[in-house]
Amino acid sequence: MTHWLCVLVQTPAHASLGSVLSYRSEALLAPGTLVRVPLGKRETLGVVWDGDSAQATGELDPGKIKAIAGALDGIAPLSTAWQQLIGFTAQYYQRSLGEVALAALPPQLRELSPEQMQRRLKRGKLAQAKAVIGTGEGPNGGPLAIPALTPEQTAVVAQINNHPGPFLLFGATGSGKTEVYLNSVQTLLAGDPEAQALVMVPEINLTPQLEARFKERFTPLYGEDAVVSLHSGMTNPQRLKSWLAAHSGSARIVLGTRMAVFASMPRLRLIVVDEEHDPSYKSSEGARYSARDLAVYRGKLEGAKVLLGSATPSLESWHHSRPALEGGRYLRLHMPSRIGTQPDAASARSEQERTRAAAGTPAGLPLVRRVDMNHQHRNAVFSIPLLEAIKERVLRGEQCMVFLNRRGYAPVLHCADCGWKSECPHCSAFRVFHKIDRTLRCHHCGFTERVPRACPTCGNPDIAPLGRGTERLEEHLAELLADVRRPNSISAEFPEGEPIRVARIDADTTRLKGELESQLAAVHAGDVDVLVGTQMIAKGHDFRRITLVAAVNPDGALFSSDFRAPERLFSLLMQATGRAGRDAKLGAGSEMWIQTFQPAHPLYAALKRHDYPAFATAQLLEREQASLPPFSAQALVRAEARTQEVAQAFLNAARAAANTDMALWEGWTDVLAQVTLYPAVPMSIQRVANIERAQMLIESPSRAALQRFLSGWQSVLHATRQGPEGKGLIRWAIDVDPLAI
Ligand SMILES: [Zn+2]
Ligand SMILES: [Zn+2]
Repeated sequence: MTHWLCVLVQTPAHASLGSVLSYRSEALLAPGTLVRVPLGKRETLGVVWDGDSAQATGELDPGKIKAIAGALDGIAPLSTAWQQLIGFTAQYYQRSLGEVALAALPPQLRELSPEQMQRRLKRGKLAQAKAVIGTGEGPNGGPLAIPALTPEQTAVVAQINNHPGPFLLFGATGSGKTEVYLNSVQTLLAGDPEAQALVMVPEINLTPQLEARFKERFTPLYGEDAVVSLHSGMTNPQRLKSWLAAHSGSARIVLGTRMAVFASMPRLRLIVVDEEHDPSYKSSEGARYSARDLAVYRGKLEGAKVLLGSATPSLESWHHSRPALEGGRYLRLHMPSRIGTQPDAASARSEQERTRAAAGTPAGLPLVRRVDMNHQHRNAVFSIPLLEAIKERVLRGEQCMVFLNRRGYAPVLHCADCGWKSECPHCSAFRVFHKIDRTLRCHHCGFTERVPRACPTCGNPDIAPLGRGTERLEEHLAELLADVRRPNSISAEFPEGEPIRVARIDADTTRLKGELESQLAAVHAGDVDVLVGTQMIAKGHDFRRITLVAAVNPDGALFSSDFRAPERLFSLLMQATGRAGRDAKLGAGSEMWIQTFQPAHPLYAALKRHDYPAFATAQLLEREQASLPPFSAQALVRAEARTQEVAQAFLNAARAAANTDMALWEGWTDVLAQVTLYPAVPMSIQRVANIERAQMLIESPSRAALQRFLSGWQSVLHATRQGPEGKGLIRWAIDVDPLAI
């Protein structure tokens, strides 16, 4: 008997075909079944979808409907909950179902024929049969070493076990959040032989550390296949293998980056989102989803507990975790102390600690020092007291970390005679000077050229770097510390002692695979005295011997036009602070230095007290007064064209149509009254790779009204694209809950 199926496929963006097509099949296939279907001249992967929830937009003439090529037997249909997650994502983020569904599946599923898939599955089953089953023993046959929980961890774990959640775990850096995750996962798996847990981290760089800890804990209990990873740094075969293990239920724990939120896990019971505030959870292409927000939705959908963790939660999550009586929806859990510094561990307080307490520094956390750069030598990069402090630490055999959020040698080269600057010919941005290979590189479009010998405009041979990036900072610091010798380093080779070692970690020094790992290993081994880098080094890494962290020039974000800039700065500085004094023995003397022209700024004052709640309260008050998120909902529409006029004209035409055409739609007056559309403006980096970019902000006090508006406005945007104002437009896209405006 012939059945008609709705099948999701990936069609080119904005193709008139739509992404839900009709096919014939002799067998009745359940929604969620993976199939191969003909599409034009090729064959592609599709997902059978419930005909009631998706309207097929393809050819409906029965004579023309093609038959599916085959089903991927051996792979169970994707669950109803997974289908709902995809449906919600597509609707909320205003993308097509097919695009979201297919992007959520491992790329190799698209490439393999049903026969190749069969072979792959068979091999997987064989390997699984041979896999070592957990014995419950430690690495050498001894008992499994599980660290005892601190009183704070114990209290938090009890709350997680006794409440449905979602939870916001607000824990200081070094307070042992990871142990709470491990413990919660362990309790879950022990209580349910099929339960699965999903643990997400923001960056690929952080996955090896996390994977090692989870494998150490769970491989002995559940075998070597129990823990799998899912992130974009894996090869396609590796990703498929992890995905299949999660989908079949044989993997009990999936660790991954934002893409892992779509992992098919039939018995998902716990989702952990570590560093939940991190902007990397928001996708910046395709469907611009927030994996953190989807995790909360998915937890509710599947009855899984959701645990968000951070030392500096996003203001959204902080707001959601206010007391339930005030409307809060998350349960806030607090772990304020660093491990090893909780009251029961600190028997006697040193004089040093009493001084720090007097300065308002909580026990065990680094002392924050602000250096007023108004009183330093003009153009000084390092203030004298900071330089002295670094020398002192290095002479004691401790490590220092200096960070600056700008890579390269200098952000711009310039000619003092005629005013020429190293602009990118294709972008509205300067090309950055990289001294190491003497290039000018555009960080937006990648355009790279050798540094000219003389000014291209006036021929002046004396063109000079302006400002500084990490590469120049590293060079400058090495010069300033040239006379300092490493302690106890006198040898035949170095009769006066070894010079100190300054190293740099940023996107430029870690381009090749394995470079980051080897550089981190050098820091851990003590082969580096001062580490210079971008925010890459401020995040997550567990440097035990760093006792001084310095931010040399963080002021920029205080005066940014982006209302989220202070939140990001505070979080970055708190995280950087968290890198200092991880080793409890050295922790008491650790310091965070901030060089600033605004020493009295409330953000730095709150940072000095390590007082995130005070910072958050002040910021939320400002946001409420200005009706900004989380007190309103926002969306951006971005448009790209060869000229700025075309990009803006398209947006403004769609805006005008919202006010004229949509106002005539029956029942839409209410929705329209709650939504504000601002005029189109150029994006902050207006031109990238010769493409002009414009954006339009849409705002509403009601998330539901904004959602309703966007779903209706989609058709207006599509119609405008086809009309005269769409002429010359390259593309447009909606970004719901944008992170950067
Ligand atoms: Zn010149
Ligand atoms: Zn460029």
